[in-house]
Amino acid sequence: MAGIYVHIPFCKRRCLYCDFFSTTMLGRQKEYIEALLKEIAARRNETGEPIRTIYLGGGTPSTLESADISRLLQAIVTADATEVTMEMNAGDADTAYLQAIRQAGVNRLSIGIQSFQDELLRQIGRRHTAAQAAEAVHMAQEAGFDNISIDLIYALPSQRTEQWQADIETALDLGIQHISCYGLMYEEGTALTKMLETGQITAIDEDTENAMYDYLCERLKAAGFVHYEVSNFALPGYEAQHNSSYWNGTPYIGIGAGAHSYTRKDGEAVRSWNPDDLDAYIQGINNGTLVRGNERLTERDLFNEQVMLGLRTSHGCTLPPSVSRRATVGYYKELDLLSEPEEGHIIATQKGLHVLNRIIEDLMEG
Ligand code: SF4
Repeated sequence: MAGIYVHIPFCKRRCLYCDFFSTTMLGRQKEYIEALLKEIAARRNETGEPIRTIYLGGGTPSTLESADISRLLQAIVTADATEVTMEMNAGDADTAYLQAIRQAGVNRLSIGIQSFQDELLRQIGRRHTAAQAAEAVHMAQEAGFDNISIDLIYALPSQRTEQWQADIETALDLGIQHISCYGLMYEEGTALTKMLETGQITAIDEDTENAMYDYLCERLKAAGFVHYEVSNFALPGYEAQHNSSYWNGTPYIGIGAGAHSYTRKDGEAVRSWNPDDLDAYIQGINNGTLVRGNERLTERDLFNEQVMLGLRTSHGCTLPPSVSRRATVGYYKELDLLSEPEEGHIIATQKGLHVLNRIIEDLMEG
């Protein structure tokens, strides 16, 4: 089984913290859709395996007309897909639109909310209010969506612990099935990072950020959510299938500007990617000269990915025996940052999740 990811790199406005590839040139959507349809037709069978999951991500897929969503999903033509996710900005929710995309085949929504505090939403440049965010979820439920995920961000500048705790309660009150939560990252070159560098905002301290994360994990666990990946929580049975395939090595085809693919052919694992440039992508597709970057993954690459992705999940990862790696695992076990339920199989502890990147780096092969 495989997945298809379709990148929709359009946003009505850029959020101040975002470094994803997207543009506000909505006038170019039509020509982009035509290019996507061509790429889908050429590549939809590339993995040689049935497509089980489809993910429309961005950018903001909900800036597209519902008729275009329908055309894209029809072009993928698969009866095997069990999960069809679409990302939506909370500011785009509208009953008729939601009904239309559901009709088109979307059966899972991922709604970008980030915060239920208006002052924080303004600070990070989101274009919706807290009330619109809650209303978006209600409208989606009324339209028949019964698999809804929302994204929240913690460790926002000047965010108070009580505000974060209130956000979690608001999320739980909405009756959603999945929550993705990310600690704010100050990515190089973003407007928010410039504000930090010039002293207009202050980052919250690491202890407070860790306490926010621990509270999140405990509260969602108490509410019946499974903490199945470092940033992802789901009611049992609602774990994101598409994202899980990134973590467990399932092949996927990435369609659109900047999209990445992972395929296995003749025993070789290959990662490839489209240019993250709208003109280069559209022209390349239209005149058949698209240059897709690619790399063959070595045994070492695959091992490192297994460590990096596996340790982010609640399943952990299995390590082949090695004296030096045993010493590293032993060191982190002593510090209660790793557990080893079976010899060679390691899982990050709650404390370990705070320093996960460091642990992963130490276990990867250089
Ligand atoms: S809507 Fe999403 S992709 Fe677009 S700028 Fe904001 S965070 Fe980035």
